[in-house]
Amino acid sequence: MEEKPYRDLNGYYRSLFGCKIAKIALDGGFTCPNRDGTCGTRGCLFCSAGGSGDFAENAALSIAQQIEKGRAQTAKKWADVKYIAYFQAFTNTYAPVAVLRQKFEEALAQPEIVGLSIATRADCLPQDVIDLLKELSQKTKIWVEIGFQTANEQTAKIIRRGYDNAVFADAVQRLHQAGISVIVHTILGLPGETKEDVLHTMRYLNDLPIEGVKLQLLHVLENTDLAQWYRMGKYEPLDLQTYVDWVCACISVLREDIVIHRLTGDGDRKTLLAPTWSLSKRYVWNTLHKQMRTQNIRQGQNAKK
Ligand code: SF4
Repeated sequence: MEEKPYRDLNGYYRSLFGCKIAKIALDGGFTCPNRDGTCGTRGCLFCSAGGSGDFAENAALSIAQQIEKGRAQTAKKWADVKYIAYFQAFTNTYAPVAVLRQKFEEALAQPEIVGLSIATRADCLPQDVIDLLKELSQKTKIWVEIGFQTANEQTAKIIRRGYDNAVFADAVQRLHQAGISVIVHTILGLPGETKEDVLHTMRYLNDLPIEGVKLQLLHVLENTDLAQWYRMGKYEPLDLQTYVDWVCACISVLREDIVIHRLTGDGDRKTLLAPTWSLSKRYVWNTLHKQMRTQNIRQGQNAKK
């Protein structure tokens, strides 16, 4: 298999578990402080009705049923596979600890689940929740995925992120002290952001004890405020070549130990308005890697490990 100039996810999972790992996206029935009125009611500028969990299983099913369904679908693709239960939709630490414990333990009790990945906000990680995650991490691998998007405070206000960088940095430090791996979600193509803004975010993350980063393209989805901006001509999505250029620059700037969990976004085909070029995932992937080879980005990265 072709060597990649960054620490890639499949290789990382294989080094931990020795087999193919698939993530099963779950909807634990949570909400979000950016939607229930605590921080706001309209959500982040780009957030879909599904709370950025458009590929998650159905919340009407129990966690065990969702995992069973996800396993049945995935097992058709790979013979030797184990699973991470990915609590994806909305804010998955936004509930009393007893409720979180019940959901997380239900997931861990299912066959072939080797870890939990929990998507949340930096302002929804009080110490009692971190203590619960620390306790669970004695039995299994736990990742917390934080939707940070940008280190540019001005952009954070525009997209209505709802907390400032200091809250994020504090949450990352407390998770790290508890021995929990942190994955940070970032978005390329946020309104008004330049390549320098994006690289500033990468450099900011380099100074924090994080394990992984997701680089995601901003998608314009139906029924979001961003969709209105797009229709009014107030927002223009990135074109493919700019996206490829920015991703390559991010890889060059990020610390070499950081695992790259994602290089594109996963827009829901049914609701994606723009950019439609992102639907050709294979083409985008190939274009990205061709550009990395052309630019000789971090040649021999994996060989060094
Ligand atoms: S924090 Fe996440 S779930 Fe909440 S509104 Fe923003 S993107 Fe949506």
